[in-house]
Amino acid sequence: MSGFKNNYERKEGSYKPSEVLNFLPNPQDYPRWFNLNRIKKDYDGDLMKMGSQRYYVFRKSLQCHFCDLVGSVMYKERVIGKKGQAPNCGYHFNLYAIDENGNEVLMTKDHVLAKSCGGTDTLDNYVTCCTKCNGDKGSMDYEEFKELKAKEKQESLK
Ligand SMILES: [Zn+2]
Repeated sequence: MSGFKNNYERKEGSYKPSEVLNFLPNPQDYPRWFNLNRIKKDYDGDLMKMGSQRYYVFRKSLQCHFCDLVGSVMYKERVIGKKGQAPNCGYHFNLYAIDENGNEVLMTKDHVLAKSCGGTDTLDNYVTCCTKCNGDKGSMDYEEFKELKAKEKQESLK
C-alpha cells in the first residue's frame, strides 16, 4: 500500500549513520550554482555522492517525525528495474530503522507543507519519515496526520 515499490540491490557492508552524515559537504563552502552531488566519497570501493538532500534531512533527525522509529543503519543500495534488469544507476545510501518485530523499515523524507499547497523542496520543509508512516499518511496533510499519530500513541499508553 505504500508508494515504495522499488526493489533495491544491497551491497555488503553496513554503516552507522554518523559514518555518512558527518561527512556531508557544507553548502556554505560552495557557490550557489554548484551541484553538491558532484562531491563523492569513497566507501569501501564505491564512490558515493554525498550531496543528496535526503542525507541533510536525516542529519537534522534520524527519528521519524510521526512515530518512535529511529534510523540506525545505512546500506549501499541501488534500484533494480521492474523486471529485474540491471540497475543503471550507482549506489546510494539508504537509512533503515529496526521496528519492534525486528523488521527493517526504510526511512525517507516528507514535506511538511505539501507541494500542492505551495510547499517548497527546501531543507526546512522536510522532516524524516519512515515508509510505514509515509504509507499510512496517504493524502492526509501533515498536521492532520501528526495529530492522528499522537492520539494513537496516547491510546496505546493507556
Ligand atoms: Zn514513522
